[in-house]
Amino acid sequence: MLTIWQALIGFGLIVLIILFVFRISVVRDIILLPENYKELLTDYIKFYRQLNEEEKLSFEKRVEHFLSAVKITGVNAVVEDLDRILIGSGAIIPVFRIPDWQYINLHEVLVYPGAFNKDFDQVGSDRPIAGMVGNGPMQNVMIITKWQLRQGFINEQDTHNTAIHEFVHLIDKMDGTMDGVPEILLERKYLNQWKNIIDTTIGQMKLHGSDINMYGATSPVEFFAVISEYFFEQPGLLKTNHPALYEMLGRIYKTME
Ligand SMILES: [Zn+2]
Repeated sequence: MLTIWQALIGFGLIVLIILFVFRISVVRDIILLPENYKELLTDYIKFYRQLNEEEKLSFEKRVEHFLSAVKITGVNAVVEDLDRILIGSGAIIPVFRIPDWQYINLHEVLVYPGAFNKDFDQVGSDRPIAGMVGNGPMQNVMIITKWQLRQGFINEQDTHNTAIHEFVHLIDKMDGTMDGVPEILLERKYLNQWKNIIDTTIGQMKLHGSDINMYGATSPVEFFAVISEYFFEQPGLLKTNHPALYEMLGRIYKTME
């Protein structure tokens, strides 16, 4: 006959097994890419299309890993499979040549439908509506608008991509300061050269205008984000128009052969 203790232990084990199985099923739901992920990546991500088969597989795995680690929440907006793929791609494109990169300073991405107002902490906000990476109470949170997110990838002919812009801010912030100088990625011997090229280019932009988005002339922080958008959206054009910047960004993002 079972004693009361044996019965209790047995019951406890059953509960543990149920909890374990349930947890596994929840995790599975979260990490899986949508069934048509290859199609979405091919249709919307120019960067992905240009990779070879092996690199494509690596890109897919890294997007999946990102999506399993970072929560994506719609705020008055429905987050569709495409939005998750675009956010994941925006995260991985800048760090694709940097193995083992983790966005340890990001826990959640909030997706807004369009413009959001300034009722909350706006430190780090961009072009008031596109997106922001949080500070203070919004630490580890990124906000991006669905409209800007999609435009960034749909329009392949310009040099703008809001998702890449926001993720570059996080890359910049990883060394403790958001200052336009990614000290984790750029060798120390190039740091002064990078700071000088930023200052010089911002000066020229203010004097003569530029094909670089003028928002980049507002600060070194925004310059780094804006010129990175250009670098990943139109690398060939950047190389032609601004070879020195192209070379430095190649050092930062490890894309140089
Ligand atoms: Zn910005």
